[in-house]
Amino acid sequence: MSRQIDEKTWQRLQARANAQNLSVDELLNDLLDEANAEMICNDHMLDAAPSSILITDARQPDHPIVFANATFEQVTGYSQDETLGYNCRFLQNDDRDQPGIDQIRSAVERGESCTVLLRNYRKDGSMFWNELRIAPVRDATGQLTHFVGIQNDVTERKRIEEELLKSETRLRSLLESQSAFVIRTDMNGEYTYVNPAFVSWYGWEREKLLSESVLETIHVLDHEKTERIVEACILQPGQPFQVLLRKIMPDRGLRHTLWEFMGIQDSSGAVMEIQCVGFDITKQLELEEALQQSEARYRTAVESSLDAFYLLESVRDDITGDVIDFRIVEVNENAVQQMGLSRTALVNGLICELFPINRTGGFFEQYKHVVETEHPFEQEYMIPADHAAPGWYHHQVVKVGDGVAIVNRDITERKRSEVMLRTSEEKYRLLVENSYQGIMIEQVDPIRISFANQAIEDIIGYTPDEMLSMDRDSLLAITHPDDREAFVQHLMDCIQGKETAPDFRVQIYRKNGEFRYINVNRVLITYEEHPAVQMTFIDVTDRVESERLKSQFRVEQERNALIQRIISMLSHDLRTPLAVIASSRDLLVRYHDRLSAKKRQEKLDTIGRQVQFATELLEDTVNMARSPLTARKFEPRPVNLATLCQVSVDEVRSIHNGDYPINCTNLGHVKTVAVDEVLVSRIFLNLLSNAIKYSPVGGQIRLELDRSDEWIILRVIDQGMGISEDDLPHIFDPFYRADDAHHINGTGLGLNIVKDCVDRHEGRIHVESKLGQGSVFTVELPMQVDSSDQ
Ligand code: ADP
Repeated sequence: MSRQIDEKTWQRLQARANAQNLSVDELLNDLLDEANAEMICNDHMLDAAPSSILITDARQPDHPIVFANATFEQVTGYSQDETLGYNCRFLQNDDRDQPGIDQIRSAVERGESCTVLLRNYRKDGSMFWNELRIAPVRDATGQLTHFVGIQNDVTERKRIEEELLKSETRLRSLLESQSAFVIRTDMNGEYTYVNPAFVSWYGWEREKLLSESVLETIHVLDHEKTERIVEACILQPGQPFQVLLRKIMPDRGLRHTLWEFMGIQDSSGAVMEIQCVGFDITKQLELEEALQQSEARYRTAVESSLDAFYLLESVRDDITGDVIDFRIVEVNENAVQQMGLSRTALVNGLICELFPINRTGGFFEQYKHVVETEHPFEQEYMIPADHAAPGWYHHQVVKVGDGVAIVNRDITERKRSEVMLRTSEEKYRLLVENSYQGIMIEQVDPIRISFANQAIEDIIGYTPDEMLSMDRDSLLAITHPDDREAFVQHLMDCIQGKETAPDFRVQIYRKNGEFRYINVNRVLITYEEHPAVQMTFIDVTDRVESERLKSQFRVEQERNALIQRIISMLSHDLRTPLAVIASSRDLLVRYHDRLSAKKRQEKLDTIGRQVQFATELLEDTVNMARSPLTARKFEPRPVNLATLCQVSVDEVRSIHNGDYPINCTNLGHVKTVAVDEVLVSRIFLNLLSNAIKYSPVGGQIRLELDRSDEWIILRVIDQGMGISEDDLPHIFDPFYRADDAHHINGTGLGLNIVKDCVDRHEGRIHVESKLGQGSVFTVELPMQVDSSDQ
């Protein structure tokens, strides 16, 4: 890529050179150094790779292309598919008659590197000038394996070379300078005159030059052009023709020279000599090209960038030379937008004056450091709300000339979402970690736990770390076998986005082997950027247990009611035989003397039969009533006694519509105890029912749960009518009822049942009571407690 040096640039150069008392040449030299520095900086910034690169395999027949970079594709329009595996010659189409092709061929044959200029054709058929450099690649044994080809599209340069020639003024200015070369050649192409400037530039003795053919010192690719110009000079003597030629220097290096050829006629009017006035423009061309390349890349990047771009120039103290501020040399549109000032207000402004935060916020010092150390620098920073352009930015600072280039990206939005994300993640984390619910996150593929909170340990006994190390099988192993299939299905449904049943219940083995009922809820979430299932665990074992105990208790209640009914039936059925007995006895007493012996015997027999009938009726009924109670096997198993107490109190209270305040206190913090829960239910039911039955409405009743070293203690305390000293020894006898209790419905069986239940536990029961002062029934059951839970 190159660019024509325009008229204005030349005039400016000339003016600057005059002002600095330099020749244009010297000025260009200085500029060249600056330009290189800038170019290097820009290259660093943009990391552009402008050349097409091809690699061919020299070991395969016809050297197929094995690599082509993206630029090659861009420049030629040929895709990788159309390139790889083919010989490079497709780039020449049918234009095979080119000197460069022969050069390449022989270099390849010799395994040497070379540089040639070729007319190549893009896929769309358009021609471009390709300056191709090829270099051999050898393996460790020295065997030629590949050729690397670096192509540069120099079409533009060729065009410029031609355009350059058209500028008369430019040529004149060159010619006028002292360093212009003047030579003359004869029609055989031999030097006839060389001026001192040319001699010193070329570096050969005048004599040696004069014995040399001019064409020998011109690059082979420019021979044709030279011959054309010479022909033109012959045809139009006196008329100047410009040409740009590459001169081969004694060290074989190339220099770009600009010439004006003119045919000089002898007296006969024939052209016998060509006068050539020229100038070495290599530096200018290189400079222009370098500047242009660097500038074009820089421009595109700067203007097309979404980032704000600032070019700052150091402002130095006149005396000390220290950097004291930076002047804005250039800004792009985004910078104008970002700073909220017009371009005119920004350009030439001093950054610390325009925006004092540059000094107070330490930016000035950072830029100064970059200028002094040449170390590029980048950081994210925040401009507070009370300054111009508040927000978050990322800036990249590199040294350019005596100043810095700054690429500034507004990252406020990114920061804001980062903060939001962090806050929301923080909230989520706090919620999850402190939740009383167990929360685990299951990674979906493969299934494993990627997060577990502390509550999980309380629920299933495994620490969060132990949970994380579980795989799918170990997770299933802690699930009750009956629930495994449904548990997996529930997970699958959740992963597939199907609606899953809320509060899905599973039984899980705790680490200590105990079963817990767990309600599981699952939702599909994104965790650490992957789909995952969030599971919440709630231990509902106590709830399940209390529901079970409740229904158990109700069964007992019904049984009790049944007994009551049976007993009242019995009392009804007994009335007939008792009436018969009573009337028979009456007759016997009253009419004893009047009745014959036979009649008396008949009456006595009737009494005997009725007594027999009544006894049988009584026995049958008692057997029938007691059998469901006594037939049951004694089955102690761990049960949460606290729950059972509460359930019993709630149930009894509900029967009596809350007329009796009943308190339940767990003084000994008793929890799980191995008892027969059916029998214990019966104990509670009967003792609590009696306490209510024998208390006035509103009487206080208390159920206490306590423990000693060996016993679980249950106390039912009331403030009701109490029991007389005479009755106390008998109240556990079947059908015994105190005299004072006769106006109250009852069977006299309840305490007998309680005694039976206590006996089956090998426990003890006793009662303390005073008439009119209430009673305390104390039941002691031997402790068979699962102590781990207390
Ligand atoms: P029932 O209550 O059906 O009569 P029980 O066997 O439950 O039969 O009780 C036997 C007797 O003990 C009762 O009739 C009553 O006289 C007495 N009794 C039981 N509990 C109490 C109590 N909490 N307060 C006063 N007397 C009671």
